[in-house]
Amino acid sequence: TDITSLLLSRIRDVADYPEPGVMFKDITPLLADPAAFSALTDALAAVAASTGATKVVGLEARGFILGAPVAIRAGLGFIPVRKAGKLPGATLSQAYDLEYGSAEIEVHAEDLSADDRILIVDDVLATGGTAEASIELIRRAGAEVAGLAVLMELGFLGGRARLEPALAGAPLESLLKV
Ligand code: 5GP
Repeated sequence: TDITSLLLSRIRDVADYPEPGVMFKDITPLLADPAAFSALTDALAAVAASTGATKVVGLEARGFILGAPVAIRAGLGFIPVRKAGKLPGATLSQAYDLEYGSAEIEVHAEDLSADDRILIVDDVLATGGTAEASIELIRRAGAEVAGLAVLMELGFLGGRARLEPALAGAPLESLLKV
């Protein structure tokens, strides 16, 4: 469709970043194009509406850039899930494994309640490790996960299959699949 080709045309492949052998999907050309950024925001806000989300969670850092305008356009609040040590208030944290070593993400505990249905927004779904940890974190905070919405899914890394148990029937919407 039109929006698919517009979005795809604004994503740049960068070879050997951040390490040799990786083809990085760079979304900065899309962010620099107001028509493409706005169309992306509309598409993700439509996902928020269709899932009945009550709040949007964005994953640091590009999930902030996409998630914040989606929240505004959908008329919802925005909650940042940050790397450990960045949030000033009382947090819940979730550790997860990386290819080499591990990482930890956090959310302000008071930002999520049992009434909330959360749409998680990020730019790229790769192995699914980050999304899986965020789903776990949101559930542990007492909220429900309404769905996960990403701009692009790297299908060959198997993130969708990995997330199936954690999503427990909640939708995973990716606007582009490569
Ligand atoms: P995962 O945890 O699914 O392996 O990796 C996803 C996280 O890493 C996301 O937060 C995403 O921003 C980042 N990421 C991984 N690969 C890429 C990529 O090729 N392009 C961009 N923009 N982000 C990526």
